[in-house]
Amino acid sequence: MAALNKKTIDDINVKGKRVLCRCDFNVPLKNGEITDDNRIVAALPTIKKLIADGGKVILCSHLGKIKTEEDKPSKTLAPVAKRLSELLGKEVKFAADPEVVGPNARAAVAAMKDGDVVLLENTRYRKEETKNGDEFSKDLASLADVFVNDAFGTAHRAHCSNVGVTKYIKGPHVVGYLMEKEIKFLGQAVENPVRPFVAILGGAKVADKLNVISNLLEKCDTLIIGGGMAYTFEKAKGYEIGTSLVDDTKIDYCKEMMEKADKLGKRLLLPVDAVITDHFPDPIDDPEIKTEVVDIDKIPADKMGMDIGPKTRELYAKAVADAKTVVWNGPMGVFENPVLSAGTRAVAQALADSDATTIIGGGDSAAAANQMGFHDKITHISTGGGASLEFLEGKELPGVAAADDKD
Ligand code: AMP
Repeated sequence: MAALNKKTIDDINVKGKRVLCRCDFNVPLKNGEITDDNRIVAALPTIKKLIADGGKVILCSHLGKIKTEEDKPSKTLAPVAKRLSELLGKEVKFAADPEVVGPNARAAVAAMKDGDVVLLENTRYRKEETKNGDEFSKDLASLADVFVNDAFGTAHRAHCSNVGVTKYIKGPHVVGYLMEKEIKFLGQAVENPVRPFVAILGGAKVADKLNVISNLLEKCDTLIIGGGMAYTFEKAKGYEIGTSLVDDTKIDYCKEMMEKADKLGKRLLLPVDAVITDHFPDPIDDPEIKTEVVDIDKIPADKMGMDIGPKTRELYAKAVADAKTVVWNGPMGVFENPVLSAGTRAVAQALADSDATTIIGGGDSAAAANQMGFHDKITHISTGGGASLEFLEGKELPGVAAADDKD
C-alpha cells in the first residue's frame, strides 16, 4: 500500500472531545427516499470508531446542489439521519437549522454525552460553503475541538466544511478510514502498481480527461480508451467518424498522446469496431433505437458511434485478463440505454472476472458495476468520481492536504 503521510483517526484520542466529522452523505434521493446508501455505509467504520472511542460525534455533509431557496426542502439531510440511525442501531439527532449552525445545532451539541451522534443540516444551505468563506468555517469550527475529514467525494474541492474549518478548529485535523482507504488504493495503483497495469478511460469528452490521459500514460503499461472520447482519437488517426461525438480542437492533443505512447513504449488501445445509430436516443434510454455494428473504418457519414463493438469488447477484456492492476473510469458507450450498454457491461464483467487488483474510479462506471451486482467482485469502488479523476491526474487534493502531516 502507498503510504499516506497524513494523521488518521488512529493517531488521536477523542475521548470526551467534540469531533466534527465531514462525511460524504451526498446520496441519490427520490421523493425523499434514499435510493442508494453506499456512501452512508462507506462512512460507518469511521463513525463507529469515533463512537467507540467516546467522542461526541458531530457529522456534517453536503447533499446535491442548491441554486435557489426552493431547492432546499428536497435537499435536507433529514432522511440521512434516519438511515444512519438504522445502520448504527442508535439515535442520530438531526439538528434542523436553516443556517446549519444555529440554535438547534448548538443546543444539540451542548447536550451531547460521550458516544452521542448529531448530524447537522446540509452544509450547502449556506452559500459560503462552496466559496470557502470564513464566517461559515468559523461557525462550524465553534462546535468542535477536533476535525476528521472522511469525505473523499469532495476532497478535490476547497470548501468551508472540509478545508476552511481546519483554520479555526485548533485540531488535530485528521482523515477518517474511508479517506485513508481511497487514497491508499488509488495511490498504490498509480505510484506503485503490480504490473501489468491497465488503465481504462471512457466517458463523453476528451477535454475533461486531458491531464488524466497524459498522467496515466506515464504510469500504466496499457491505456484503453472507450466512450465518446475515443472518436476524437479515431479522427486523429485519420478515420471518418460520421456524426460521432468529436472535439476538433483536441485532434492535435490526441496525436500528441499517441506519439507519447509510442515514445514511452506503452500500448494505447482504441476501439476497432463500433455500435452505431443514426441519431442520439431521445429519451436517452429509448429501447427502440436501431443499431448496427461496423468496423471503425466503416462508419457511414450519417451515423454515430454509441458503444464499443464486440471485437473491441473482446480486445479490452483480454487486456484486463492479462493485467495485475486495473483502474477504470468512465463508461464505454451510452450505457444509460440498455441497447448501448454492452461495452460498459463487458468491461465491468472483465474486471469482475479478473484476479487483478481492480479499482473503479467512481461516477458512472461505479454506478454501472453496482447495478450489475459486481460490487463485491471489485477490489475497490471509489466513492468519489471527480476526486478520483483528479487524483489520477496526479493533483494534490485540497481536502487531503488540509489534514495534519504525520509526525
Ligand atoms: P463522463 O461524464 O465524461 O464520464 O461521460 C459519461 C457520459 O458519456 C454518459 O452519460 C454516456 O452516455 C456518455 N457517452 C459514452 N459514450 C458515448 C458516445 N459514444 N457518444 C456520446 N456520449 C457517450
